[in-house]
Amino acid sequence: MSGRETIGLILVVGVSAGGAAWVAHRASGGDEPAPSPPPASLEPSHPGGGGRVPLGGWEAGDPLDPMAAERSEWNREAIAALEAGELERGVELLERCHAGAPDHAVFAANLAEALARLARREHEEPESRPRAVERLARAVGLAPGRDDLARLLERWRREAEAERGFWTDESDHFLLRYDGERGELLNRGHYLLLNDLEAAYQDFGELFGRFFVEQGRPKVEVLLYRREEFSELTGIGHWAGGVFDGKVRIPIEDLDRERKALTGVLRHELLHAFVKEVGGRGVPGWLNEGLAQWVEASFLDDRGARVRRAREKLVGAELFTLTELAGSLASWRDEERIARAYAQSLAFVAYLEHHYGERLVIELVEGYSADRDAATTFLERTGVGLDAVLDDFAD
Ligand SMILES: [Zn+2]
Repeated sequence: MSGRETIGLILVVGVSAGGAAWVAHRASGGDEPAPSPPPASLEPSHPGGGGRVPLGGWEAGDPLDPMAAERSEWNREAIAALEAGELERGVELLERCHAGAPDHAVFAANLAEALARLARREHEEPESRPRAVERLARAVGLAPGRDDLARLLERWRREAEAERGFWTDESDHFLLRYDGERGELLNRGHYLLLNDLEAAYQDFGELFGRFFVEQGRPKVEVLLYRREEFSELTGIGHWAGGVFDGKVRIPIEDLDRERKALTGVLRHELLHAFVKEVGGRGVPGWLNEGLAQWVEASFLDDRGARVRRAREKLVGAELFTLTELAGSLASWRDEERIARAYAQSLAFVAYLEHHYGERLVIELVEGYSADRDAATTFLERTGVGLDAVLDDFAD
């Protein structure tokens, strides 16, 4: 399950001489934290946090401060650098602005935002994670009103605490991490898991035509927890198979006994990782969860039976609209509705695959990387409206 992000608008308001230019931009990167875990589901999303906020421009006009004009120029350059993804450069420029005018609210807010963006990038790689936490802590200090950053910092610290003493096994595309004291318990099983993961990476790479680690993206982190730790960290109960929140997190007790099912779960969560890399964060819940369950069931040679059971679950109940299933199912609270939402997602994706082919389902995901939603892609490729197909499916 992956969190859905808030997407903001590109917006430029009122740039006037001597006035303030406010440049808002596309916001992304903010897994909105769920207030509390849902009562139960196959797999609720994990709380994230730390959305983007607009950066403020500043046109200085203070004749008593000869450096003011320069700071205003640095601030402008910093915004351009941040928009271009040159985060270190943006931070450096804003550090200068803030150092020269520490009471200036716009500079402090911009610096906090810049630090947070850089921290998020650094946090993707385990070795730069301690630095990322420090940076984010500084951002929180600069912007005490940013609850999103404070929550993200809290989560990062909790994760770091839970992963203290974790051992890392590395393969071509994965970092498998688990409590070093459990090496015996896992009994060489981690090598088997890495093999399973590598096989899944190859399969999905071919399915999507995308091998993202080869294209420079970080390796996928897979963390194994004891059930109790997993529940504590994620707030999710014993029924959960795993989560994907940028990292794959899996509870595991007895690898020998659980391996087959576990590999199915790993495939499910890894599919979410591919969906994120290929389609970005906008891919709707029904498509993401439908595909993930689809590949999991395929691996377990259980697809026909699972799709049948999913359809049975839908009999007699009104189907959800695709809009209702667009977001993360994590914000849902009703256990029975969550189960039905997952069932409908699987059954509908299976229906699309059966009638229109697997390739088209993958193209629906790919479309999101170019801001084309599933309905648009589907209409272009088939001449049919997706809602009409849902009506046919309902019959
Ligand atoms: Zn899922």
